[in-house]
Amino acid sequence: MARKPIMAGNWKMNLDHLQAIQVVQQLAYHLDTTDYDATDVVVIPPFTALRSIQTLIEGDRLPIGLGAQNCHWEAAGAFTGEVSAPMLAKLRAQYVICGHSERRTLFGDSDEIVNRKVRAVLAHGMTPIMCVGESEEQRTAGEQEHVVSGQVTAGLHDVTGDQAADLVVAYEPIWAIGTGKTATSEDAQVMCAAVRGVVRELYDGSVADSIRIQYGGSVKPGNVRDLMAQADIDGALVGGASLDPDDFAVICRFART
Ligand code: PEP
Repeated sequence: MARKPIMAGNWKMNLDHLQAIQVVQQLAYHLDTTDYDATDVVVIPPFTALRSIQTLIEGDRLPIGLGAQNCHWEAAGAFTGEVSAPMLAKLRAQYVICGHSERRTLFGDSDEIVNRKVRAVLAHGMTPIMCVGESEEQRTAGEQEHVVSGQVTAGLHDVTGDQAADLVVAYEPIWAIGTGKTATSEDAQVMCAAVRGVVRELYDGSVADSIRIQYGGSVKPGNVRDLMAQADIDGALVGGASLDPDDFAVICRFART
């Protein structure tokens, strides 16, 4: 079954709402219907820019998906500083990143918390982009498949096969995020195939064939084609390069000849 590639730009804690509008306008200027037909394009601004980007996308009928970088697992309550899944759904966000390594390492998002967030996002009709990936020490010790398979299994706890089939998993080796070091296309393929293998074990072949698996970690215009040529890589979660609309457009247009 053909899986539609998905390119998602995670802006992290960058771009105020005015800068965010400029970036999306310039991105849209570069992309046309052929690109959107070939690839799902998603922008993931900070919370403060979500409303501005939602109105821009809807006002100009841009076929660009909107995502959020995180959410709380509860729908409402005394959680000062947090944002809930139904609030994001109301803004018509379609995607929410769950368990980005920066959340896991800096803000204590354990596998169990990531799973709660994944289920909250699904319960409100959005698609989780669930991030998994090993640290440099874990890779040096040869533990990468074991670590990632544990994260995938824990993150998908109590997620049904139908839900998992529409989910996005981003394999992001921590040592490659924001460092300029990219996994080789072959290493990235091995790990994305391993993630698909875990999904096959947890569910079945049809869920494994449907789930989309992104690679993330210093994806740039210069390496995107090699990565996308791999059988189990269905897109990219892009940090730094997505802040530059010219570069992100080239990444989204990878399928053009
Ligand atoms: C990320 O933050 O998910 C990421 C992959 O960042 P970068 O592309 O900058 O490595």
